[in-house]
Amino acid sequence: MLYSNNYINNCGVYMNFVPVSDFIELPLPTHNHDDCRNKAVQTADKLCAERGVQLTPIRRKALELIWGNHKAVKAYDLLDQMKPLQQSAKPATVYRALDFLLEQGLIHRVESLNAFIGCSCSDQQHEQLLLICVQCQEVEERPGMMVMEAVSRELEQAGFTVHRKAIEIQGICKHCKQSQANS
Ligand SMILES: [Zn+2]
Ligand SMILES: [Zn+2]
Ligand SMILES: [Zn+2]
Repeated sequence: MLYSNNYINNCGVYMNFVPVSDFIELPLPTHNHDDCRNKAVQTADKLCAERGVQLTPIRRKALELIWGNHKAVKAYDLLDQMKPLQQSAKPATVYRALDFLLEQGLIHRVESLNAFIGCSCSDQQHEQLLLICVQCQEVEERPGMMVMEAVSRELEQAGFTVHRKAIEIQGICKHCKQSQANS
């Protein structure tokens, strides 16, 4: 069964079933992004407390910076942003913070860009269908349940054991397409 209520991810972190309706649509370019960031940090605080892990200041700072917008962030850009804020932000420290955030499902790695995005549904079990806009660089995370189920069946037939499952698609998002149509 692909989606069940009891799910432990690769890192041993407990995840809940995710109803599709809980996923957030690609927010309008004019939305109040502070709300997105605050919600993400609050969820991270709650999850870390529940799991008995520490959202240390450096981990929290990395999460806040990744949530600077909905674009994917590269590790070295993150390092540049953290340096003036935190003397202890050595590359190894920042990479460890990123590993922690990945393990806890608070961020995702965007392999095709070698970058990271914040997860807006980190309290729920999900696989990632990432829609990457090559124009505005925003990444929309979608549940893609039907796609993922089809892939799971394929993998089962192949007798393949999955370590990580994410599908990345590059193209033009609906906002960029609309603004192109209007100009
Ligand atoms: Zn936002
Ligand atoms: Zn996610
Ligand atoms: Zn776009």
